[in-house]
Amino acid sequence: MKQNKISQFILSLFFPSFCVGCNTEGSFLCSSCAQTCVIQRAPVAHTGTSAIAFTYAATEYREQPIVQKLITTLKYRGAKDAARHCADLIISHLKLARFTPPHDCIMTAVPLHQKRFRERGFNQADCIARVIGTAFPIPYDPRLLLRTIHTPQQTHLQERKKRLENMRNAFLCIDKNRVYGKTVIIVDDVTTTGATLEACAQACKDAGARRVMAFVVAK
Ligand SMILES: [Zn+2]
Repeated sequence: MKQNKISQFILSLFFPSFCVGCNTEGSFLCSSCAQTCVIQRAPVAHTGTSAIAFTYAATEYREQPIVQKLITTLKYRGAKDAARHCADLIISHLKLARFTPPHDCIMTAVPLHQKRFRERGFNQADCIARVIGTAFPIPYDPRLLLRTIHTPQQTHLQERKKRLENMRNAFLCIDKNRVYGKTVIIVDDVTTTGATLEACAQACKDAGARRVMAFVVAK
């Protein structure tokens, strides 16, 4: 057993996982509860001034309490098992939507500000993106974007306009060579107003990305 497998095994002895849907021990999402999650069949095509062409959102957040609980578990417990289940929902959606990775694409995750990263110890979007990268032949680079502004917790800012203002210029593309002329796929856990993803997408476009898509667990 590798070291991380051993530590995961020891962790599971002290902090067993329980299904967020039915409380069965063993995993944060058991296979029967996973089957009750309604997976969207098509991506959302954006029009108008959006910097994002398509958002592949696996589920509808409000209608899926199990998904809500799974994302909360991922964010506050940082469990790899929860990240795998979140990624599996996206992977199921991509398959239903018959997604094929464009040949020129590169994937990244919405970054956390350094301050928040230190508090949390991990980036939940990065955890999800890593699993997607093992299911699809999409090159993944977690260091394409930098979060330059430490924005307040988005849940406290309800107004879309306020959120957009708050987010504008919060991200910077720090590796323009890797995004220039490419299709950039940005991964996040949830999108509500879309302000965060929109700001990330704009940073990629400003760096010369040809097209931007987003993958999220829920919208
Ligand atoms: Zn269950």
